[in-house]
Amino acid sequence: MKASPYPNDEYTVRWISALNEELMVAMAMLDEEHGRPQSTPRDDTNAYHLGKIGEHNVAMACLSGAQLDTGPAAIVAENMRRTFKNIRFAFLVGIGGGVPNKKKDIRLGDVVASYPTGPTPELKDWFCAPPRKILAAVDLLKAYHARPKKPVNNMLSIVEELGEEYAYPEEDVALDLLYQADYEHGPEAEACDFCDRKALIPRNTRKLQYRPYVHYGIIASGNMVIKSGIERDKIDQRYENSIFCFEMEAAVLMNKFPCLVIRGISDYSDSHKNDQWRKRAIAVASAYAKELLLLIEPSDVELLTPIVARVLDTGMRLHD
Ligand SMILES: [Zn+2]
Repeated sequence: MKASPYPNDEYTVRWISALNEELMVAMAMLDEEHGRPQSTPRDDTNAYHLGKIGEHNVAMACLSGAQLDTGPAAIVAENMRRTFKNIRFAFLVGIGGGVPNKKKDIRLGDVVASYPTGPTPELKDWFCAPPRKILAAVDLLKAYHARPKKPVNNMLSIVEELGEEYAYPEEDVALDLLYQADYEHGPEAEACDFCDRKALIPRNTRKLQYRPYVHYGIIASGNMVIKSGIERDKIDQRYENSIFCFEMEAAVLMNKFPCLVIRGISDYSDSHKNDQWRKRAIAVASAYAKELLLLIEPSDVELLTPIVARVLDTGMRLHD
């Protein structure tokens, strides 16, 4: 890959993926490819891919090797901060486990965007909210998606460009199954072929199943994967049922710089989780990030303080 025609200081937005599969789709969101950076400090071990989305110069990196603890994520973040000194904020885009209940009708293939709506005091401690300007764009997009007359929604057309593989799965490929929290998945099968459909939680079928809903709320970040319906609900109850999604990488990064976490729902954080919805979940999260970025004015980004100049707190995380 060739070197970018632009110096590192011209990149203002960061896009971080945790998995290689997520990075692949992130790259596909670029309108223009710039290639690798002109230079990186010798001790920066990250690999970057640079490009443009709309009018924004974007630096992409993957937390490869982040595995199950959040240590390496902090190193990636620190390196990025030194190499790209004009970065204003970051998007953390990828998959997450949904936390549905009667009031939160979250489905596989939906999107959750982190949004500080009345977080409980404990969560406030580590929730490094995105800058006001970015949240304003989130509000605007929310209105575009939901307005009664001629709603604007570009996510689906962005996803469609990715091809069949990322489409809403046909019924014979994968089903959206939500089981009672205490009904455990049989260990012998990967998918839920042998799980008892009588243990499903009844839900209405959405009119347009393939149309992802975007939920705005708390994304809880921990250093372990939640794979139990009972555990999931217990944590959610501890935080007044305010959690929409669990993920693993954001906590350490959210403490380091202002970022917006965007997760596509690939499972329900229970023992039935499998990889069948992964691609769809990555695609919808990435498409949402792109649609949002296209709404943000480059001049507004310029007005934000570069991350490198910010005084940073260390916060607390779940599961510490
Ligand atoms: Zn199952």
